[in-house]
Amino acid sequence: MPVEEKLSIIIPSYNEQDNIQRTFHTICEILTANQIPFEIIFVDDGSKDLTYVRIQELSSQHTQAKGISFSRNFGKEAAIFAGLEVAEGACCLIMDCDLQHPASLIPEMYRLWKEGFEVVEGVKSSRGKENPLHTLCAKTFYRIISKVTAIDMSQASDFKLLDRKAVDALLIMPERAPFFRALSSWVGFKTTTLPFEVQDREIGASKWSLWSLIRYAIRNITSFSSAPLQLISLLGWIMFFASIVLGVQSLYQYFSGNALEGFTTVILLQLVIGSVLMISLGFIGHYISRIYDEIKARPRYIISKRCGC
Ligand code: UDP
Ligand code: MG
Repeated sequence: MPVEEKLSIIIPSYNEQDNIQRTFHTICEILTANQIPFEIIFVDDGSKDLTYVRIQELSSQHTQAKGISFSRNFGKEAAIFAGLEVAEGACCLIMDCDLQHPASLIPEMYRLWKEGFEVVEGVKSSRGKENPLHTLCAKTFYRIISKVTAIDMSQASDFKLLDRKAVDALLIMPERAPFFRALSSWVGFKTTTLPFEVQDREIGASKWSLWSLIRYAIRNITSFSSAPLQLISLLGWIMFFASIVLGVQSLYQYFSGNALEGFTTVILLQLVIGSVLMISLGFIGHYISRIYDEIKARPRYIISKRCGC
């Protein structure tokens, strides 16, 4: 049952053993000073280090600290949804375990919620220190996803505060592969934004490799849009018009007795059509595999241990 005025903070944590204590105490200090009632739910996403042991230690010392541990690594999105599921608060806030999302902004987000906003989105005013290739890929991904979802996500982050109504709306979605960042805007509600500067990660390393980011991008674009499938029809039409032009040209060559000349065109056409067909089949295959995953209706995550909740 949602406890009135209580703020639930959900922190997905994967191999964050050295961050748990620090993050908890930093948040605790700020919220106590601002007299905000709260609970902090750490979701251990199948860590291979002592993350869950650290969470358990905290939970045995502080009633506000709670923890769930997955049976294996299910990914950050799954961890966010698991946290939302057990949260008791009247509003929930999602933030990273490495304090790259500044905890000092929580009281302001909470104040905006009390003022009546149902979704308070943290938007990145700067991306912090990042390698240029990563920034370029992230920008391209957000450009595509903003276009196809019609939601401006260029500065979106998972640092968000959601009212109980928005949380409940998210929780009834049966999707197996939810994309939290987009879905939390998609549900609507009275929304405001709060800019923040991404802080540097002080302890541990980022969990994202370039390959995992590419997979994340493809998964989320296809979970939110069927535009790539429509692109296939568009490509088909372009090829169709090109073939009319080339057809007319080939017939002209044939009747004027120069038929052999167009051989290069034939080879080029073969290559282009062959590659377009294969890429298109790949798109379709990807969507079929997504349907396959959804239809199996496996749980988004499996919980192996919990403490405090
Ligand atoms: N995380 C997670 N599961 C994963 C990868 C990451 O729960 O499979 C958590 C991680 O512990 C952190 C947050 O998601 O709290 C953001 O991860 P990270 O700092 O590695 O990403 P970055 O800030 O580099 O985008
Ligand atoms: Mg980080």
